[in-house]
Amino acid sequence: MNLFASDNFALLLTKLQQQVCDDRTDVWPAEQLKAMADAGVMSWDVPVEWGGLDLKPVDQLEGLRLLSSACLVSTFVLTQRSAAARRIATTDNEAAKLQLLPGLLSGQVFATVGISHLTTSGQHLKTPLVQATETDDGYVLDGLVPWATGAAQADFLITGGTLADGRQLLAAIPTDAAGVQVQPPVELMALNASQTGAVKLNSVVVDHAQLLHGPMEQVMQHGTGGGAGSLGTSALAIGATAGTLQCMTEETQRRPDLREFVAPLQAECDQLTTDLRLAATGEHPAGAAAVEQLRRQANSLVLRSAQSWLAATKGAGYVAGHPAERAVRESMFFLVWSCPQPVLAANLRELACSGLTTS
Ligand SMILES: Cc1cc2nc3c(=O)[nH]c(=O)nc-3n(C[C@H](O)[C@H](O)[C@H](O)COP(=O)(O)OP(=O)(O)OC[C@H]3O[C@@H](n4cnc5c(N)ncnc54)[C@H](O)[C@@H]3O)c2cc1C
Repeated sequence: MNLFASDNFALLLTKLQQQVCDDRTDVWPAEQLKAMADAGVMSWDVPVEWGGLDLKPVDQLEGLRLLSSACLVSTFVLTQRSAAARRIATTDNEAAKLQLLPGLLSGQVFATVGISHLTTSGQHLKTPLVQATETDDGYVLDGLVPWATGAAQADFLITGGTLADGRQLLAAIPTDAAGVQVQPPVELMALNASQTGAVKLNSVVVDHAQLLHGPMEQVMQHGTGGGAGSLGTSALAIGATAGTLQCMTEETQRRPDLREFVAPLQAECDQLTTDLRLAATGEHPAGAAAVEQLRRQANSLVLRSAQSWLAATKGAGYVAGHPAERAVRESMFFLVWSCPQPVLAANLRELACSGLTTS
């Protein structure tokens, strides 16, 4: 059965489209996440032996693409919870799985990740942002987790630190544990309802029961979990583009002159959707390089589509609260979120070179 052709899933997409989440840090997409949980979305990434569906990557990506076309902010929050779920599902620590997976499956437990300091954030700094020290009973973490989406809403934070010898560890830390200080969400350019902010760790004790992975070199490259710039991040950019193009297409009913601009963007979006599927099944002609290539292309497309919609809606689209101005702000997110250096460099190169013709 095609999960995404079901009435249940169509109903979920309609709900997400209709329950537009305000772009404010004092809002949380609880209704949207509950609707996803009710529709079984939280089971997609949980292993079968824990009651989940453990969808194939190609299906998970298609689900994310569709959900983000309806509501980017709640789907983004979902990806952070999924990243946490995957790190838990792939640990050898059975007690941690037993403690966390059933709640994640039902949607009663919300876990998020604060892991960017192990991959992208603060890589130019001499001292790791979170330092780990070994003790008789486990480890102690000290420092600042710079980014954690929904930390104020989370029961558990999947985060880690770096030991003096360079090895890293990942642990599941209750957000009410001694020494964990969740900072208020920062005001962002968009996606404010994701309630993203920093978390201070002041001598936070990590015992062996909380340890998920490591200590080891490059802990984020261990097991599955979709690292920086993974296909999941491209699925969201392609989905956000599809949402924008759907709105633009609706506009063409009244303004056929816009069709000339929507058609090539839609063709590119359809091609990237196909490429995403091929990459997920290992059939993309670019092989392993497809992951980076797709994210680069998806970033470019999501930015151009949103700006085209804004241009098409003219001054009205520039007024705060219009969905086109929101789409432009939201599209910018892909320039900074989970964006590996080569993708960023390619996007900067594209921005630096004028594509305008003189005719
Ligand atoms: C809305 C949002 C939500 C996010 N949610 C999460 C989440 O839930 N979990 C998670 O783990 N991550 C999350 N991230 C983090 C994200 O994936 C990236 O890791 C992050 O955006 C990278 O930006 P940074 O400012 O931390 O990078 P940094 O590289 O730390 O850059 C910070 C600043 O340092 C300076 N700098 C950078 N490089 C150099 C250099 N070589 N020399 C000198 N100065 C330099 C620049 O001035 C730069 O502006 C989120 C990010 C955003 C924007």
